Amino acid sequence: MTDNKELPKNADSTKPVEVSFYEKHKKIYVRDVKGWWTSWRWALVWLTQILFYGAPWLQWNDRQAVLFHLVERKFYLFGLVLWPQDVFYLAVLLIISAYALFLFTAVAGRLFCGYACPQTVYSEIFMWVEARIEGDRSSRMKLDKAPMTASKFSLKLLKHLIWIAISLWTGFTLVAYFTPTQELLAALPFGFSGWEIFWTLFYAGFCYMQAGFLREQVCKYMCPYARFQGVMFDPDTLVITYDPERGEPRGAKRKGADAANLGDCVDCGLCVAVCPTGIDIRKGIQYECIGCGACIDACDPVMDKIGKPRGLIRYTTENALEKHFSSKDVISHIARPRIILYSVILVLICIATAWSIATRIPLMVDVIRDRSTLAGRWTGWGEYFRMASCRGLQR
Ligand code: SF4
Ligand code: SF4
Repeated sequence: MTDNKELPKNADSTKPVEVSFYEKHKKIYVRDVKGWWTSWRWALVWLTQILFYGAPWLQWNDRQAVLFHLVERKFYLFGLVLWPQDVFYLAVLLIISAYALFLFTAVAGRLFCGYACPQTVYSEIFMWVEARIEGDRSSRMKLDKAPMTASKFSLKLLKHLIWIAISLWTGFTLVAYFTPTQELLAALPFGFSGWEIFWTLFYAGFCYMQAGFLREQVCKYMCPYARFQGVMFDPDTLVITYDPERGEPRGAKRKGADAANLGDCVDCGLCVAVCPTGIDIRKGIQYECIGCGACIDACDPVMDKIGKPRGLIRYTTENALEKHFSSKDVISHIARPRIILYSVILVLICIATAWSIATRIPLMVDVIRDRSTLAGRWTGWGEYFRMASCRGLQR
């Protein structure tokens, strides 16, 4: 099943479902949800966007604090100035990012995807705008099915105008990391160079298309990380999982003999309705799951309502489910050799880089003029050979 609006009641979602490789894309209408993990996701949206949109406006000693000045071939990072010969630090930064990704993924799965990936963050912002203008999940579904009227057109137009404004601002911000913000502002609205126009529109276009239309398809079909993450998982990696032993057989809790034989899952379908990638977590770990935690936030209040303990869907590990580990056991399995190795390498690289930057001596060049060189205007090759001959340089 690929569309969260089509969850049949009491359907056995533990059975494999055949999905055509070239199946037509069905729009996913994500239901709003509140809870611990959703709050964390929004906290990360705020943090990453305050950093991204805010950094180009910061000043440091009469210049932009963070600037990759392509014309001057310098990278300013507050008090630090890096030159092209310091490209070594860029390589180190990439190595640190890669190791951090390995470490976080081995510990807790797709943390980056669920909370900090630009695709997740911008999709979240665009969906928030959509929900404020078009209403909740059922209103949006109704609106999309309804024929085009003046009111529907104006709602859609408003939504797209706000999306375009956010996208253009994002494109402008990206360019402001390479051309000083004050210069860009002074050049507004028509003084941008060709490259500045190109990159602003290019990045804005990507943002509009990916967060407004493609959304989960980027994670499912385009992102390479979703493909190779499987090799970074092991049975002790924390992942968001449904507990089938506790939940099955699922079904609505009605009074009677049947209710006693049912598991904790009441088959309400909320965990599917809130999933941004439209999957049913009850079918087990799937590569489409970005680990956002929305299904946990949807399921816990249901468990509260029916008087069952929270955590039918929770962060746990394959081993913990199989061997019935306690929370203490799960935590103790985090410090396994692989995690310790990644952590040690990461800490050592960070310390070595910090030490290298702190003790870095910028290149000093003294230009000393040759004492016997005559300075003057270029008067042609004749004059040059005459002077060379006088100085005994011509052979
Ligand atoms: S939200 Fe919880 S109770 Fe409802 S269908 Fe999902 S797992 Fe079952
Ligand atoms: S299954 Fe749960 S954690 Fe995974 S993407 Fe869907 S809502 Fe997020």
